[in-house]
Amino acid sequence: MLHEYDLTQLIQPLCGWFLQNARKLPWRDDPTPYHVWVSEIMLQQTRVEAVKSYYTRFIKALPDVTALAQCEEDVYLKLWEGLGYYSRVRNLHAAAVQIMQEYDGRIPDDYGTLLKLKGIGSYTAGAIASLAYEKPEPAVDGNVLRVLARVSADDTDILDPGFKKETERLLRELLKECCSSPKDTEPEDAGKESARRDGSEKAEIPSISPRIFNQALMELGALVCVPNGAPNCEICPWRDLCLARKMQLTDKLPVRAKKKERRKEEKTILLIRDGDKIALHKRPSKGLLAGLYEFPNKQGHLSESQVISLVRDMGYSPLRIKRLADSVHIFSHVEWHMIGYSVLVEEEAFATKEQKQRAAMEELVFADAGEQKEHYALPSAFAAYRKDI
Ligand code: SF4
Repeated sequence: MLHEYDLTQLIQPLCGWFLQNARKLPWRDDPTPYHVWVSEIMLQQTRVEAVKSYYTRFIKALPDVTALAQCEEDVYLKLWEGLGYYSRVRNLHAAAVQIMQEYDGRIPDDYGTLLKLKGIGSYTAGAIASLAYEKPEPAVDGNVLRVLARVSADDTDILDPGFKKETERLLRELLKECCSSPKDTEPEDAGKESARRDGSEKAEIPSISPRIFNQALMELGALVCVPNGAPNCEICPWRDLCLARKMQLTDKLPVRAKKKERRKEEKTILLIRDGDKIALHKRPSKGLLAGLYEFPNKQGHLSESQVISLVRDMGYSPLRIKRLADSVHIFSHVEWHMIGYSVLVEEEAFATKEQKQRAAMEELVFADAGEQKEHYALPSAFAAYRKDI
């Protein structure tokens, strides 16, 4: 079990391995608090490879907290377009405003204060405090829980919040015990045995740079003790220390309780065309994909005739209708099963006054492909229909 396992023995091989094998990633070049924060938020639920170009573009457009706090909603949503989980960028913006108002524009270095910022949970607070400020705080995500459950052969459900809390407690203790101040520990020294405790049985304990240690744990989970498929035990720095490997339990650990099944929703997506322009609708400011643009859509799978009368009710005169391909988009808790129609409507110039009034109530904007690309953030849930523009 994790709480019975001697974690200090893991430090040296882990940090030594990391210093030899760390990937070169754009946010590691200059780990300012802002860079760490933005990258860690982007990396939640998203692959490193997918994040790289988004990160570079985002930092170029919004290089600091001030720029982010002053940014318009449509602009930051556009920068996030396609990355998914859009509440992340809304929270980033809200927290930037909070930092400007309450902390004079400086991202706090204290773990407890970081937790008060919108969208910052224990993992991100730990990452900012340790990676940017070298504070002895843990940054525990699913990767860290998995590798530690395996190395200690702990069969507790890693989705149990109690296990995460206990892991954070143990790592915080370890970091506090073994941490050197930043000026004492250059990255090259991290993981070397250096400190000596008088009178202790464990005469030598390794010194830790919290930044190196936490990054190394994450890197091990990403490159070696991987979540999908078999772990690469042969190249693992912990291969001689790992109880799951010794006990041949690597395919059984970690234990994860079954998740609830996702809800399935049927939708009909409408590409309403007026010349070379397509109708878009801004989603409500709360809930799933809040504030983003979407193609007009309705619950359920509608027939061609239902779509025609719906489009008429919206104040447009359909001229031609074509069925588009079906598509499925999976969110964390819900699946959208979509069918689509392209509906060519009579040009707005020919609409009656009554039609124009009804159309105005629908609050649609018409934009051509270039305008959509430039100004309107459309979530990837609609990607299958975007190619039909
Ligand atoms: S030895 Fe294998 S199972 Fe154990 S921590 Fe390393 S990669 Fe994971």
